[in-house]
Amino acid sequence: MPNNVVAKSLCPYCGVGCGLEITADNRVRGDRDHPSSQGMLCVKGATILESIDKDRLLYPMVRESLSEPFRRASWDEALGRIASRLQQVRLSTGPDAICMYGSGQFTTEDYYVAQKLLKGCLGSNHFDGNSRLCMSSAVAGYVQSLGSDGPPACYDDLERTDCAFLIGTNTAECHPIVFNRLLRHRRQNPSMRLVVVDPRATITAQAADLHLPLQPGTDIDLLNGIAHLLVGWGQLDEDFIAHHTTGFAAFAETIRHYPPEVVARRCGITIEQLEACARLWAASKRVLSLWSMGINQSIEGTAKVRALINLHLLTGQIGHPGSGPFSLTGQPNAMGGREAGGLSHLLPGYRFIADPAHREAVEKAWKLPTGSIAPQPGRTVWEMILALEAREVEFFWIAATNPAVSLPDLDRTRRALARSPFTVYQDCYYPTETAQFAHILLPATQWSEKTGTMTNSERRVTLSPAFQQPVGEARDDWQIFAEVGRRLGLVEQFAFDTPASVFAEFAALTAGRPCEMTGISHERLRQNGPLQWPLSSGSPPSTASSRLYTDHRFATPDGRARFAAVHARGLAEPPDPDYPFILTNGRLYGHWHTQTRTGRIEKLRRLHPAPFIEIHPRDATQLDIHDGDWLEVRSRRGTARFAARITAAIAPGVLFVPMHWGSLWADEAEANALTHSEADPDSSQPELKACAVQLVKVAAS
Ligand code: SF4
Repeated sequence: MPNNVVAKSLCPYCGVGCGLEITADNRVRGDRDHPSSQGMLCVKGATILESIDKDRLLYPMVRESLSEPFRRASWDEALGRIASRLQQVRLSTGPDAICMYGSGQFTTEDYYVAQKLLKGCLGSNHFDGNSRLCMSSAVAGYVQSLGSDGPPACYDDLERTDCAFLIGTNTAECHPIVFNRLLRHRRQNPSMRLVVVDPRATITAQAADLHLPLQPGTDIDLLNGIAHLLVGWGQLDEDFIAHHTTGFAAFAETIRHYPPEVVARRCGITIEQLEACARLWAASKRVLSLWSMGINQSIEGTAKVRALINLHLLTGQIGHPGSGPFSLTGQPNAMGGREAGGLSHLLPGYRFIADPAHREAVEKAWKLPTGSIAPQPGRTVWEMILALEAREVEFFWIAATNPAVSLPDLDRTRRALARSPFTVYQDCYYPTETAQFAHILLPATQWSEKTGTMTNSERRVTLSPAFQQPVGEARDDWQIFAEVGRRLGLVEQFAFDTPASVFAEFAALTAGRPCEMTGISHERLRQNGPLQWPLSSGSPPSTASSRLYTDHRFATPDGRARFAAVHARGLAEPPDPDYPFILTNGRLYGHWHTQTRTGRIEKLRRLHPAPFIEIHPRDATQLDIHDGDWLEVRSRRGTARFAARITAAIAPGVLFVPMHWGSLWADEAEANALTHSEADPDSSQPELKACAVQLVKVAAS
């Protein structure tokens, strides 16, 4: 440990996964030894300590109904109520009436114990994580094209690529340290090219060598159009296609329908821009594709991911240094959640509930009778909302997430949450917008107070040790789940005494799986620093970067990657004469999700003091809108109000609002009051990125 450093930790915000050092005088700085971040931090990581003691939930609170005030309760009373209610619901209505909604803010240990409790011991597969809103299309796309989830590339590739192709990601604001590494690489290698595909001229796009401001919902047109040109120019890796892929003929037939003139018109770009982009793919030996919510949050998110992977298969650019498809994870441990089975169709170790052999392996490991795990995948979070509407849920447990702001179609979401007869809400902070729907509040420790692991976007697992005492009576999420399990009589299954023992049990379940972590333990992470999976117990721990599929043998049964023949479907809700604008939304540099943490940090509030709406000058002129005017945005589901920000950074006909402001932080400025719940059929990820709206000026500036 360097001088003056009392702890090494991990930034708990985003999937970049930056290493932190906490100094003896209680400051935070970047950890130069962390391979992912190399000593860098963005403003969120740099101010993280300020949030630790603000508005913390200090002890359990209970109430009988939503109309009553909370009263303080002991842990014994709160957990007793939870255990007896679970038992009662399980025996009277059955496990289908029990749902839990968790979070990429969980440690892997939290995720794992929650899976064991819900899917194993309670017999309910209705556990979903908020990664459903974030990465589930990437998961489905990887599985369908490559045979398994798991990003093939690593951050080392940021410094080895000839061409970084960024689509649907505002990396400069949302994954700043990844972007810093890319820009540093370009400064040192001026021939490297940066292509950005985004309807907005974001800070990321402004740094690009080529920016394609395509119309929302036309990503597949663009990707198929690039493939059309590459095939037409003969710029394909025939040897790779012949020996390592299947499905090329159907794919080639599909992309025939995407000639440049059609693609350029649909995407709202020029043929020259399209050809320039395809030429960069053709000329570069190493193309690294980065993407995030702009691709995933779509009714065709999985198809978009697959259309992007197609380009890598077409050119053989996968498994080599500097190339490959690389999803940038939103949350700090969305990856760990996937590994631990934290979506409603998954089990630990990249296993699937629908697979009888996978269920049997997990039941055996958990020492449960055969058949304990129900054979059908559970409800996704939106299906939980529908089930609440239908009064099919009798016990709803929400932890470390704020669905009363982050789910789509908020009016409907909130009405559904209010119907729950019994909701447990477990979080670090109080108040939040979701707390008003709870019957029991449980105080959780936050990152500085608990020991656990998280996996970042490049499959690197970091141990984050506790370096402070919990505030009030807060407990670790995994401890709460385990205690409930023990109160239900499952003493052997939940006999964990440390987070290290939880991780050891989880890691053993990954043996022989694509995400093998039998070579990773808390002890090894303490000794060696962050480690990437796969790492088996026989392998020496190495902090060197690793890639998947370096031998071009993929995780499919025949070892070949699969081309996808996918056509563009466009938006679920395109603009029309009644709702003539497309509203999109996204993050700002200094804020995180619904501001549960960043809204409590003064410096970040000053950085982004208020929500706004971006509108193109042409549209503003037509509607007599001036900077600062108050605009009411109306969709088929709700309304919200924002101050106008006129900028040519947004395309005509498109509007942008930040997604961070819930009712706790501003009046009527919620992006999700407007969004719809239509989702991708494979990933169930909602199309949060686009909906049709109308605009009314309600007050001049
Ligand atoms: Fe934290 Fe992400 Fe910023 Fe790194 S880039 S300091 S992980 S918020």
